[in-house]
Amino acid sequence: MIPVTQTFLPPIDEYQAQVQRAFDNRWLTNRGELVKELEEKLKSYLSVDWLTITNNGTIPLQIAIKLLGKGGEIITTPFSYVATTASIVWENCTPVFVDIHPEYLTIDETKIEQAITEKTTCILATHVFGNPCHIEAIEIIAKKYGLSVIYDAAHSFGVNYNDQSIFNYGDVSTCSFHATKLFHTGEGGVMFAKDKDLQHKLFYAHNFGHNGPLAFHGLGINAKISELQAAMGLAVFPYIETIIKERKYVVEQYDKLLDFSKIQKLKIRANTEWNYSYYPIIFETETTLLKVQEVLNQKEIFPRRYFYPSLNTIEYVKGQSMPISEDIASRIMCLPLYVGLELDKIEEICSLINE
Ligand SMILES: *Cc1c(COP(=O)(O)O)cnc(C)c1O
Repeated sequence: MIPVTQTFLPPIDEYQAQVQRAFDNRWLTNRGELVKELEEKLKSYLSVDWLTITNNGTIPLQIAIKLLGKGGEIITTPFSYVATTASIVWENCTPVFVDIHPEYLTIDETKIEQAITEKTTCILATHVFGNPCHIEAIEIIAKKYGLSVIYDAAHSFGVNYNDQSIFNYGDVSTCSFHATKLFHTGEGGVMFAKDKDLQHKLFYAHNFGHNGPLAFHGLGINAKISELQAAMGLAVFPYIETIIKERKYVVEQYDKLLDFSKIQKLKIRANTEWNYSYYPIIFETETTLLKVQEVLNQKEIFPRRYFYPSLNTIEYVKGQSMPISEDIASRIMCLPLYVGLELDKIEEICSLINE
């Protein structure tokens, strides 16, 4: 069976050695030694000034929306994982969708301004498949209208844009360390911000607002990650470069072996050092996609329709119609991509698709 993705597992003795430290410390959560060490390692690996690790990649979105959304309208992309939209609704804000660019698949920055109203507080956009949004244009619009920018960078671990971490952009940027993501802690996530005041608010919000046992810095929730999850992160950490390199290899084989006369691939934005996180292909029609999917499934190969459906169509949002996103969502599929996917399997997948 070839799944769309496979969790990278470090050698178990290396994981156990990290877990042993938590046992020795008798300290399982509340920002222990392992969490703090992982934060320091990630900060230096990513060259960012500040981050806080969380227990998943959705809660930092919710915290950011709570702090910056103020119950207003949030301009967002319909082409993302459901967590992006769900977080907005969960925080009692209103998602206002703006359609996507047909090749980059990120929010179409040229359509953002016309969606802004007096109630707009934020732009929440996804660097989809690790492909950066048009960050410069979004920044200009946000400044002009006094809006906050939150980036759902769940797919973007290791991506650099203009020679710095993609996480350096926006007021808040978030990433997921879910087991299916490039770098993982089983479940986990992280939030980034540059403004000192906002860093302070995000940090306290992730731990009930606690400022010591008896005092509080505002409203908070529990978004803390445990030492056991940090142990996984510390065991995976030394393999980050290997993971990216091996994924790059798979991507290069797909690039070489697929016949692109009838399928479209993701266009990566200029000045991006990409992380090879997903391999989406877009067919000419949904019928072709379904046919290809059936043929692959018969051979025990399981690509995934990702993202489907377009988020403006889910039942709890009163989404406007988003023709490009709905069209792309109906024709896009992500191919198997993970460390250890063998060349003969890639060749088989490509020849089945080409046929
Ligand atoms: C995975 C993902 C999330 C959510 O992350 P979790 O860690 O699973 O909570 C949010 N947004 C996008 C785009 C994702 O792919």
